[in-house]
Amino acid sequence: MSFKHIGLLCSGGDAPGMNCAIRAVVRTAIYHGIKVTGIKRGYAGLLRGEFTPMNLSSVGNIIQRGGTILQTSRCPEWMKKEFRAKAVDILKHQGIEALIVIGGDGSFNGAMALWDEHQFPVVGIPGTIDNDISGTEYTIGFDTAVQTAIEAIDKIRDTAHSHARTFLVEVMGRNSSAIALKVGVCTGAENILLNNEKVNHQKLSDDIQRGMARGKDSSIIVVAEGPTAGRSYDIQNVLKDMYHLEAHVAILGHIQRGGSPTSNDRFIASQMGNMAVQSLIDGKYPTVTVVRSGKVLMAPLMECTKKADNNLEEFQKLAETLSI
Ligand code: ADP
Repeated sequence: MSFKHIGLLCSGGDAPGMNCAIRAVVRTAIYHGIKVTGIKRGYAGLLRGEFTPMNLSSVGNIIQRGGTILQTSRCPEWMKKEFRAKAVDILKHQGIEALIVIGGDGSFNGAMALWDEHQFPVVGIPGTIDNDISGTEYTIGFDTAVQTAIEAIDKIRDTAHSHARTFLVEVMGRNSSAIALKVGVCTGAENILLNNEKVNHQKLSDDIQRGMARGKDSSIIVVAEGPTAGRSYDIQNVLKDMYHLEAHVAILGHIQRGGSPTSNDRFIASQMGNMAVQSLIDGKYPTVTVVRSGKVLMAPLMECTKKADNNLEEFQKLAETLSI
């Protein structure tokens, strides 16, 4: 089937580079004579009929902007079959014949259900700062989030050194330690605490004291936030109460979600947006754009509907070796 009209939405958490993907989808579609309708605020906006026609100028001057011009949301109703059936009626009523979804594994499950239940053509583009989707080595936004955290920690390191202090720096990653690991390696952190790891305070204290004994006057400990942001304060209290060690806490928080995308994110998002449209034209769906062995290509959507901790063991080993 050759499509004349496609819909495009962002769903789940926002990530820098989503706008680059939106731009690439819209421009590739228009290049091939396909009409694009933008759907605001994800699946929730779809159910409310929040549609906006996209043209060449609606995606002008957005390549450098973080967030998403279409906005995004979480939509509990989408978990229910009857709302997805209603969504298909709404899409068909608009004349929309296929849907491109930019989001994480949750959003891809939502897209997969549209295909499974209604054979509605869908293509996914992975966008999340956590780089935690199965079947792809990369998700749009990760590089920018890592770069933002690195720049912040480099600044904190200046103070840590000047005042001979230990810092617990908490980075984002509710379900994934990918940001913590990469940032930890790139900032030369003395320790990295993963999100699902029970903290071994004794070892942490030994590591800090071993560093001090060999003349180190500052330490950076990168902490993945885990299920609840702020766990660094608990670690700080234990270090103080049980080991008489002073540590300062810096929680980087949402600054990691925004900001101008890096060249990596811009380029990969542009490739993915372009390929997503091409995949629909070629009749290949339900699919998802992925990075495998460093190359952007298409894969079955089914392969990208779970969470995955990419390169966890390999990066963990690297971090441990370099931080002795
Ligand atoms: P992400 O896409 O970033 O992983 P979420 O997990 O919050 O973010 O999912 C975004 C939205 O996708 C949810 O609010 C919901 O509307 C939809 N969704 C998530 N999981 C499913 C599922 N198993 N079935 C159908 N829709 C889902």
